[in-house]
Amino acid sequence: MSTSVLVINCGSSSIKYALVSEHREDRIFGLAENLGSAEARIKGITAGGAALELSIPHADHEKALETILERLSHYNPQAIGHRVVHGGTLTKAELLTPEIVDRIRAATPLAPLHNPAHLVGIDATMRLFPELPQVAVFDTAFHQTMPAHAYRYALPKFLYTEHNVRRYGFHGTSHAYVSERGSELAGSYKQGGWLTAHLGNGSSTCAIWNGESVDTSMGLTPLEGVVMGTRSGDVDPSLHSFLASNLGWDIYKIDKMLNSQSGLLGLSDLSNDMRTLIEASEQGNEDASIAIEVFCYRLAKSLAALSCGLPRLDGLFFTGGIGENSAYIREKTLAYLPHFGFNLSKEQNDNLKRGTEGRIDAGTGPQIWVVPTDEEGRIAKETESVVSQEVNQAAEKKSKDVAIA
Ligand code: AMP
Repeated sequence: MSTSVLVINCGSSSIKYALVSEHREDRIFGLAENLGSAEARIKGITAGGAALELSIPHADHEKALETILERLSHYNPQAIGHRVVHGGTLTKAELLTPEIVDRIRAATPLAPLHNPAHLVGIDATMRLFPELPQVAVFDTAFHQTMPAHAYRYALPKFLYTEHNVRRYGFHGTSHAYVSERGSELAGSYKQGGWLTAHLGNGSSTCAIWNGESVDTSMGLTPLEGVVMGTRSGDVDPSLHSFLASNLGWDIYKIDKMLNSQSGLLGLSDLSNDMRTLIEASEQGNEDASIAIEVFCYRLAKSLAALSCGLPRLDGLFFTGGIGENSAYIREKTLAYLPHFGFNLSKEQNDNLKRGTEGRIDAGTGPQIWVVPTDEEGRIAKETESVVSQEVNQAAEKKSKDVAIA
């Protein structure tokens, strides 16, 4: 493996990692899970493609990172790229300095479940590998190009100016990668107007004009927008006061219900997993059928709404576990968008090999593509680019200093 970047995504009790080589052709990846418990372990794939399972009882984030890096150190990673969900108003990937770490910490109230876990990982890798350049790549950064009319809520102004209450958007690395790659496949690299539908356990849509995000479905937090595995997506904001007044629920219970007991799981009362729901629906389970129908209808509504952000619509990209793998969901969603001229090729849609790139429209109307996402590859690419900029700037400064002396 040539020079490589270690990509780290720290959750509250898990760490996903991937070693991405310079040309992104090889991948070593895995997951440390159940951290802090007796069942803590690392599961992954080694360089030769073999499965790895390693028990690390009671390991915390630092111990797990140490074990991961020990196993990977002979590949000599050149930098570490951290996925960070919320960057507040940071607009691009940043080299980790004490100031940037403080800004990530300051954005914690906006991502209370995610940013504290990322900070634990950042803290541990900075202590363990002080000589390696480390970069934070933010899920929110790609959406910082949204115009104010897309990111402002119709709320009292001081909530925005004094408390940063605005729409931020998430899944930015995925929307950025997929729209860039998709427009390249379509022969109009970073040109024109595109919609992306990232459909996984978390789902969101995005409108992209000439390579820049102009609107997206997620907002202040990743709860806003389309129906997800366990998240509700949009609800009437008065639901909170209704539940408080009529059921006596406090805000924590309401938040938990909306984030972890709603979406496909809540609607179906069966599962958050789309495959399970499609199978159950085929066997006549009506709750599973309605969950799928609400998912597709609301997704179509979101795409139609986001098209308002585009001067022209050139096409749509599907991605994420559901978007990449389910011809059924793609077809159902497009059936709810009859006014846009989409002309899905049933044959191409049904025959697209799972997990591959491909065009699935019949050649008229806006294009429709499936583009498997590559968040780790994108994080590695952004990490490399930040590190090489820093190296160039340092070299420039050195040569100026020499000239002055
Ligand atoms: P992700 O979060 O991107 O890994 O996506 C996870 C979601 O993709 C789950 O809801 C899976 O059920 C769904 N998924 C994966 N493969 C398929 C498939 N062949 N058909 C429908 N849904 C799928």
